[in-house]
Amino acid sequence: MLTRNEGFENLTAGYLFPEVAKRRREYQQVHPDAKIISLGIGNTTEPITPHIAKAMSDYIQKLTTKEGYSGYGDEQGLSALRKKIAEVLYKDMATEDEVFISDGAKCDIARIQTLFGRNSKIAVQDPAYPVYVDGSVIVGAAGKASPDGGYEGVTYLPCTAENDFFPDLSVIKPDTLIYFCSPNNPTGVASTREQLAKLVDYALKNGCIIIYDSAYYSFIRNASLPRTIYEIPGARKCAIEINSFSKLAGFTGIRLGWSVVPSELTYSDGVSVKQDWNRVMTTLFNGASNIAQQGGLAALDDEGIKETTALVNYYLDNAKLMQKTLTSSNFSGAGVKVYYTGDSPYLWVYFPGWKSWDIFDKILNECNVVTTPGSGFGPSGEGYVRFSCFGHRSDVEEACRRLQGLKL
Ligand SMILES: *Cc1c(COP(=O)(O)O)cnc(C)c1O
Repeated sequence: MLTRNEGFENLTAGYLFPEVAKRRREYQQVHPDAKIISLGIGNTTEPITPHIAKAMSDYIQKLTTKEGYSGYGDEQGLSALRKKIAEVLYKDMATEDEVFISDGAKCDIARIQTLFGRNSKIAVQDPAYPVYVDGSVIVGAAGKASPDGGYEGVTYLPCTAENDFFPDLSVIKPDTLIYFCSPNNPTGVASTREQLAKLVDYALKNGCIIIYDSAYYSFIRNASLPRTIYEIPGARKCAIEINSFSKLAGFTGIRLGWSVVPSELTYSDGVSVKQDWNRVMTTLFNGASNIAQQGGLAALDDEGIKETTALVNYYLDNAKLMQKTLTSSNFSGAGVKVYYTGDSPYLWVYFPGWKSWDIFDKILNECNVVTTPGSGFGPSGEGYVRFSCFGHRSDVEEACRRLQGLKL
């Protein structure tokens, strides 16, 4: 018999979203007529826009011809798309050969963990997107679960209302891999230039590498906020950026993402990280779908940018409706605090006196609305609930009506 990878034994709680889905299913079984609306998982709901769809369907037609057919492409992605991303999104901050196309940001986060040894130290924002920690646990880099919650090999960086959702960096040990997400999932907070400069400065001084997840950069509307970590001087020496077309263009099901690994980034022995990343992408990955990549190219031309801006604005308008409801007297009167700046798809909402899963259950029971309990993203998320603005307008409006009746 084969032994189980001990990383799996170290995994504690089930993955957050399956538990949310389970509670929703159980409620629906008891209340078969309830029309449940989900403001829970961060899944896109609006259709692929016409210009981008046309590029993909034209390409499929091409694939049906002898002349237009192509099989495997370069594992790192279409040269035209790498170039387009470098030019349109990074200008002079990254070059084509530093951009790697993938099947999505989550998959890149998983593969990145092969670059660093099992003994590498990890730091994460608390609360954080669960994959950073759970992925590290599976590959054996997070150590065992500690009795007081969390993992022995992980430094948790509390991000709370008290510190403006930007962590105290001084607790991070030297030579640590720092996962940092901005705009953040789940808090919705986009870090400022000054904050990111502090982060980069700390990483440079302490030999840390930052894995910067900017999957929600397209939601940033405040022009003074950085949209990529490379806007910060020195970031090319200490940061990998992970990004995705999922939230930008509704590609959650189509699957397309990218990473940027600057040439200057090295391990302690001076070896290039990019060289190994190229090896990982060519060995463990066989290239993103060529159809999806045509969609990605179209998403970044003038027409595509117009369409995706309108698409993201639709979700941001949903968020404004939710913000209005959640700050109304029914909520503010009960001391509920809404953290939302208009630069992300998530409203991070504090319910004083409540445990996250209890308020989750209450909202599910009384309003038939699914949210995500903040504690599922880390201990500092306790007492909070995340509301996602992904949804059809009519569903969001109906959810807002029902939320008005929540008995707090
Ligand atoms: C949705 C999300 C991703 C996942 O992106 P995919 O490209 O769909 O895999 C990555 N990071 C964060 C923080 C996300 O919320």
